[in-house]
Amino acid sequence: MKIETIAIHAGNHNDESSRAVIQPITMSTTFVREADGSFPAGYIYSRSSNPNRTSLENVLTKLEGGTDAAAFSSGNAAGMSVFQTLKPGTHIIGPDDMYHGLRNQIKNLFANTLEFDFVDINDPAVLAAHIKPNTELIWVETPSNPLLKITDIKAIVDTARKYNIKVVCDNTFATPIGQQPLALGADMVMHSSTKYFGGHSDLMGGALITAQKNEWWAKIRQVQEMGGAIPSPMDCYYLTRSIKTLPYRVKGHIHNAQLLAEYLENHPKIEQVMYPGLLSHPQHATARAQMLNFGGMLSFCVKGGSDEARKVVNKLQIFTQATSLGGVESLIEHRASVEGPDTKTPHNLLRVSVGLEHIDDLIEDLTQALD
Ligand SMILES: *Cc1c(COP(=O)(O)O)cnc(C)c1O
Repeated sequence: MKIETIAIHAGNHNDESSRAVIQPITMSTTFVREADGSFPAGYIYSRSSNPNRTSLENVLTKLEGGTDAAAFSSGNAAGMSVFQTLKPGTHIIGPDDMYHGLRNQIKNLFANTLEFDFVDINDPAVLAAHIKPNTELIWVETPSNPLLKITDIKAIVDTARKYNIKVVCDNTFATPIGQQPLALGADMVMHSSTKYFGGHSDLMGGALITAQKNEWWAKIRQVQEMGGAIPSPMDCYYLTRSIKTLPYRVKGHIHNAQLLAEYLENHPKIEQVMYPGLLSHPQHATARAQMLNFGGMLSFCVKGGSDEARKVVNKLQIFTQATSLGGVESLIEHRASVEGPDTKTPHNLLRVSVGLEHIDDLIEDLTQALD
């Protein structure tokens, strides 16, 4: 089956009892036992599993081409579950511009139990220099946030294999419509479902999808069930509903993002545009080779500094100044101020989540704001 078909059918089944076309939302926290104490439908208690979560996990597994998926209450909860499976003293290598929320999670919550280095993993020499006997995980995030740097997933996997190191890829920006990290050799994919999966800026969620149901995956399932950071049946329902239109929403996002990137690149007040679909992107060739499309996220630097960048944001009418991404509405933010004082993000950088409004309206709005 092609991905558009999977998105619509893999997270839904007709209800046997009512003949409803759309799977109902099972709010029940608990399930009836048979006389012999068994649970013939496989459900016992909703922290362990729930029909709506099962359907969500099914569609996520198939979209990423994995063997199983685990849904969480947020992207950070999904990331946290990975780090919680690592034994104390384990060393992690992450990218130097790793999503700040997860980088801060490792630095703060795992400061006493895990060792970590955040380095330029795109430089093979730098990566090799940081691998230690206790390195068990390389974290990849591509395209990266907010610089849209591209990491060659296959190259990282090749290095990791030599040292028996696992690779997890945060695929939030690309979505499975834009990139399939498991097919490139990654062991696990992580998502903030809050973003493109949800797609309407109205729910929080996270997910992990695994290439193999191995011992490590069993530990992830334990953290999910015993840790309890699970999404509600309502949120699982909304996610399976939104995922049905994901392939078509992504088509709209990438169409607008490419045109907007080209417009900005030719604007005299813009210093630089970061979008992997531009020929000027330093890793355009890598992006072309490993991605199915270039995604709906871009960043640009306004000539001048922080003040000039903020002025542009404040003049925009259609773009909303807000953090987050992946919704139908275009969002823009001054990223350095979101990331806080230790950020390495340029202070004239604006990050855009390109929405599904008409491209002419988006360009017109930017034109008046840059004027
Ligand atoms: C938002 C985001 C996360 C964290 O997800 P939450 O749902 O906010 O917890 C992780 N990685 C990336 C790339 C993100 O954009």
